[in-house]
Amino acid sequence: MSLNSIQPTLSTLKQCQVDIGTGMDIVTDVALDLVEAQGTDDSANLKKLEQMMLECATLDREINLFVESVEQTTTRMRHEPPHALFTLVNSVKECFTDLMATDSDIQNHSKVVAFRDNIKKSLSQGNAVAANNIEEELDEDIAVTQSQTNFSCPVTLKEMENPVKNKKCQHYYDQQAVLAMIKAKHNNKKNFRCPVVGCGNPDVKQSDLELDLVMKRKIQNYKRQNAKT
Ligand SMILES: [Zn+2]
Repeated sequence: MSLNSIQPTLSTLKQCQVDIGTGMDIVTDVALDLVEAQGTDDSANLKKLEQMMLECATLDREINLFVESVEQTTTRMRHEPPHALFTLVNSVKECFTDLMATDSDIQNHSKVVAFRDNIKKSLSQGNAVAANNIEEELDEDIAVTQSQTNFSCPVTLKEMENPVKNKKCQHYYDQQAVLAMIKAKHNNKKNFRCPVVGCGNPDVKQSDLELDLVMKRKIQNYKRQNAKT
């Protein structure tokens, strides 16, 4: 058995993680649908969805730790005599158990945190919308122009499909466009500066970006309304 055969399997596992992430985004989206449809806090069902998020987060964390155990163990084994390979499975198991015993806070999983934040935001916005409904109708024209500017991506200058928010400078970009820009700049050994006028953020990092589902829904609603009129 060669250690090289491990890499493709690890890539498959990492692909699973991407799917888990997508699943978590969908659960968040369903929860936001629920909040919007009910207009109030449907806590029993929200709790169930939150439980699903925590289960996904647990799975995600386990894959992370497993991949890390395999990588740590195989790196070490490359420097050991071939017969050390016979202990590979046990070494990975030991390493995994050790890692599992360390930090275990899935409550801080970025998507779980985003789930809670988005629900909270949506709930408070829902209440605010109900209270300001009449005023808002009067200001509708202004609101539309405002949102139009807010919904466009500073990279493509087009309406965002998947808005991601930069945790550092709070600016939004379209996910696909910003990731492509970061990659292009990094290929030239440069950082990607935040393209928003007046923003001093010299280095937009992929790890600072978080998909904002509340924003995504606002854009979709806006598009739907526009299509009607
Ligand atoms: Zn910025």
